[in-house]
Amino acid sequence: MSLMTNIYPVIIIGAGPAGIASAIQLKRSGIDPLIIEKDKCGGLLRNAFLVENYPGFYNGISGIKLISYFTKHLEKLSIKPVFDEVKNITYSDDNNIFTIHTKEKILKSKIAIIATGLKHKESDIVNTFSINTKKNIYYNISDFKNPKGKNILIVGAGDASFDYALNLSSKNKIVVINRGKKIKALNLLHNRLKKNTSIEYLDNTIIKNIISKKREEVLLISNNIEIIKTFDIILFAIGRKPDLSFISSQILEKRLELETKKVLFFIGDIVDKNYRQTSIAVGDGVKVAMEISNLENLK
Ligand SMILES: Cc1cc2nc3c(=O)[nH]c(=O)nc-3n(C[C@H](O)[C@H](O)[C@H](O)COP(=O)(O)OP(=O)(O)OC[C@H]3O[C@@H](n4cnc5c(N)ncnc54)[C@H](O)[C@@H]3O)c2cc1C
Repeated sequence: MSLMTNIYPVIIIGAGPAGIASAIQLKRSGIDPLIIEKDKCGGLLRNAFLVENYPGFYNGISGIKLISYFTKHLEKLSIKPVFDEVKNITYSDDNNIFTIHTKEKILKSKIAIIATGLKHKESDIVNTFSINTKKNIYYNISDFKNPKGKNILIVGAGDASFDYALNLSSKNKIVVINRGKKIKALNLLHNRLKKNTSIEYLDNTIIKNIISKKREEVLLISNNIEIIKTFDIILFAIGRKPDLSFISSQILEKRLELETKKVLFFIGDIVDKNYRQTSIAVGDGVKVAMEISNLENLK
């Protein structure tokens, strides 16, 4: 497990595609990593309806199914993720060791891989609502159980928003709103959305207010006209950003130095502003694991 008592050679924070891929590759190289996950394995991929660009799955595969293969791979190699949230990570120049504070433990490692992906952006309008109105508001499809016969409002016009709409449309009525006219989602998804009779798409539309009851009465302004619609669920898909709040400022200040020293690695969605895909995250994970396995201080 470790080269020195209680010190892991490598700790990976986050068991999404990037973290899982790096754990698998490290294990193949004879290094036992510790992987820490605050939620469930699979990360954002748990939200993906149909992954059509992961090599090998030419008919497409759901995010959940693809993750089940990833986690079986971990099981096969006897890699057991620790389910806990990392609250803080620091680095000591005296002994070149990372200290990782989780909710429950203090762990130490020689190398740290940050594979924590992205956090959803909060909607400004939601912050103005009372607590009561917030109970039917979500940012991830994986946060609620398969709804049936519901009216669902989806906010956003990117890949995630359209993917959510197509996913939920088989059993529910969907309205997708876009605050402008520009559609960021792939053409392929847009064309599917247009053909789907369970999905209504409104551009130039914003939420003005939510008049809350058991179901949410939402006041929308659509092309300057006020309309009220009733929804059971409101799902925001308005973008994501890295969350570095658990990393000490001391590490962030010398991030480049630690990366050059090859003791700190950032992989997957957290590093790539523009290209956020499972295969890229997996490639990142494998690449850093190979770099780490070549390091002399771990041999
Ligand atoms: C709706 C949707 C559809 C998508 N469709 C596709 C598709 O068709 N094809 C494709 O290739 N990609 C798709 N993606 C993108 C893909 O899911 C991501 O690119 C991929 O999941 C990124 O992997 P990652 O490991 O970098 O990060 P993530 O998957 O975000 O994993 C990060 C993990 O870190 C954990 N974590 C975060 N902070 C902490 C902490 N402090 N302590 C412990 N654990 C922590 C999180 O819980 C999470 O499990 C889709 C994404 C969405 C949202």
